[in-house]
Amino acid sequence: MKYTRREFVKIGGLATTSLLVNGALNLKSGKNKTGTSKPKVIYTWDYGPVPGKTALALIDKGKTSLDAVESAIKIIEADPNVLSVGYGGLPDAEGKVTLDASVMDWKGNAGAVAFLQNIKHPVSVARLVMEKTPHVLLAGEGAFEFAIENGFKAENLLTNKAKARWEEWMRTKKLKEATHDTIGMLAIDKNGNLSGAVSTSGWAFKVHGRVGDSPIIGAGLYVDNEVGGAASTGYGEIAIKTAGSFTVVEKMREGYSPSEACKIAVERSLKYQKEKHWQICYIAINKDGEFGGYSLEDGFAYTIGDKKGIRLKKAGSLF
Ligand code: ASP
Repeated sequence: MKYTRREFVKIGGLATTSLLVNGALNLKSGKNKTGTSKPKVIYTWDYGPVPGKTALALIDKGKTSLDAVESAIKIIEADPNVLSVGYGGLPDAEGKVTLDASVMDWKGNAGAVAFLQNIKHPVSVARLVMEKTPHVLLAGEGAFEFAIENGFKAENLLTNKAKARWEEWMRTKKLKEATHDTIGMLAIDKNGNLSGAVSTSGWAFKVHGRVGDSPIIGAGLYVDNEVGGAASTGYGEIAIKTAGSFTVVEKMREGYSPSEACKIAVERSLKYQKEKHWQICYIAINKDGEFGGYSLEDGFAYTIGDKKGIRLKKAGSLF
């Protein structure tokens, strides 16, 4: 199955919008002359400039990187036209929309939800798991009940569009294109603190009960404020088997650049690849604000946002 992202060919067509952050930058220290760090965001794919602009505007107002990534991802979770995240996400084989998400902050706190149904903003539930429980991951019915107890409302997330795609799949059991993407975002705020978050409806028409990499800390997301952060998209099974995001951060700790570190994690996937390639892609950012990405197959891009604006970057690939 060739991995393609719907709307993906728009590289270069993305408007660049400048969001100004005051102060001259010193790339080595990650601090500018006023003593504050340089805000930056990086996110998977071409979800347009709005998530990046939203995150940077919040950081500009003094919000934390955690607030920034959560708010930005909520925009995509609420968008019915995004078929791979939140409301409007394609369902599993039984026609049920099941969602995975996680967050990790600069203090090493982490929270996640897996196999969550009928809640539009899994990223916010993941944050609450982190903030209100001693646990990292809640799944299924328990995650749903936790969300309801904390004021979330139960909603039907299966849109007519997604239902029609599922019905077509039921008839043919064949997908014209593989649809499974994740919005993963990493941000650095004015204090130089890093946070990350990811959210996805996972692999379209997956086996009921399947959980991907996104809620697995170290697979779909990892942040170490001393080093940097990483997030993945692609076949989550590969990121889980290789502890992909953790691997990326550890390679940055060893001194590799974000892109090199992502490449090494992608190379690790080779021994788990079978007759066809299962696409796997990573984004990463280090403490100095250097960023990068890499994928197994050609066709992955990520979005970067800073004082120079929001822009789409094509990632390097092994194939
Ligand atoms: N990694 C996600 C999952 O396997 C899907 C994707 O990002 O393409 O659930």
